[in-house]
Amino acid sequence: MGEGLALLGGPRARNKPFDTLPKIGPEEKKAVMEALAGGMLSGFIAQPGDSFLGGSEVKELEEEFCRYFKVKFAVAMNSATSCLHAAVSAAGIGPGDEVIVTPYTMSASATCILMQNGIPVFADIDEDTFCIDPKDIRRKITKNTKAIVVVHLFGQSADMDEIMAIAKEHDLFVIEDAAQAPGAVYKGRLAGTIGDIGIFSFNQHKLITTGEGGIAVCNNPDLALHMQLLRNHGEVVVGKMEVKDAPPIVGYNYRMNEIEAAIGIHQFKRLDSMIRHTERLGSYLSDKLSGLEGIEVPRVSEGNNHIYLVYAIKFKAEIMGISRELFMEALKAEGVPGGGGYVRPIYEEPIYQGQKGYGQQGCPFKCPLYGKEIRYQKGDCPVVERMHYKELILLPVCRPAQTFNDMDDVVGAFKKVLGSIDELKAYQEEKRVHR
Ligand SMILES: *Cc1c(COP(=O)(O)O)cnc(C)c1O
Repeated sequence: MGEGLALLGGPRARNKPFDTLPKIGPEEKKAVMEALAGGMLSGFIAQPGDSFLGGSEVKELEEEFCRYFKVKFAVAMNSATSCLHAAVSAAGIGPGDEVIVTPYTMSASATCILMQNGIPVFADIDEDTFCIDPKDIRRKITKNTKAIVVVHLFGQSADMDEIMAIAKEHDLFVIEDAAQAPGAVYKGRLAGTIGDIGIFSFNQHKLITTGEGGIAVCNNPDLALHMQLLRNHGEVVVGKMEVKDAPPIVGYNYRMNEIEAAIGIHQFKRLDSMIRHTERLGSYLSDKLSGLEGIEVPRVSEGNNHIYLVYAIKFKAEIMGISRELFMEALKAEGVPGGGGYVRPIYEEPIYQGQKGYGQQGCPFKCPLYGKEIRYQKGDCPVVERMHYKELILLPVCRPAQTFNDMDDVVGAFKKVLGSIDELKAYQEEKRVHR
């Protein structure tokens, strides 16, 4: 070994920080100045007519999305959370309806169900893709099940063929949360365009950003109209529109402003080249790391490409004889950013454990229109719990600003730490004794 681990006082494998910030170029700056100069910071008015659908920048962003994703409709909003809510509403979810969702996702993928007084039912994840496992979806279906929220996690698509087959069989609505996988392809089709509605996020931590923002895509005009109404105070608009069977709408202000949309248009133009690059970085890293004892590189399941928004490896503590936490500590000391696990399984959050939703009655969980009892318990989804608490290490390193040299640094740090396991074992033992 010779060099000595940085954790134990040796030199770091890498001294430069990793750049995980989104790219904001002169095009975005110019577009913002132009939007400001026009004086029209939002084009939305809550009445039928042209301004019902917002300003010119919002409309252009939506058109760009329709073109790239080959969909008929795109509805931009102030966040992907708003889009998820609009999608669940458009799906017709209401009190007493169950919606199956993965517990390993950003909380809003499940909260959007509660927003419509639906009941989230959590299905376990697949241990290769970390996305929802179709086999467990089947087990969780009841006569109350109305929809599935699928999340394409970390940059790779869930098993959509299986999921769409289940949906067809049981007449279920499918919402694809593609916030982490814009441009990821599943068997020749873009993630987010396979189910009934797909959603994308532009928040700060995603590949392309408007600060805050999101967009929903679909091919069905009724679904698009429903989401447009929900976005823009639909309850005062729908009565003045000539729509047959006007949908029941509780409207919100989920509108995107012109400055955000102007930024979004230029961010979106960068997407394609960015994901080609992150995909190459990820496969390069996997080539170099695969075969190292004690870790497993991300599996890319058949028919998928992976854009590696998050590079997720599995750490085998029982093989290595040190804890994941100590391994992470050593890796971080070498200059590689990362963390153990993603978010804890959502059903462990107090809103599910305490079943307190709205008001004092515990709706929607205890809603008489549901008329059933739902339990959320530790152990509900064993795979997600093992992945989260024991195995997963997430590395935000395959980012657009990074190069293959940076990947070599990551590889160097892994090899250094994995090559010094005996020292780490001794260190772990010493810490245990002195506690
Ligand atoms: C970020 C994210 C969201 C929410 O996006 P916002 O735009 O912040 O509302 C939803 N789902 C997933 C999987 C996400 O990663």
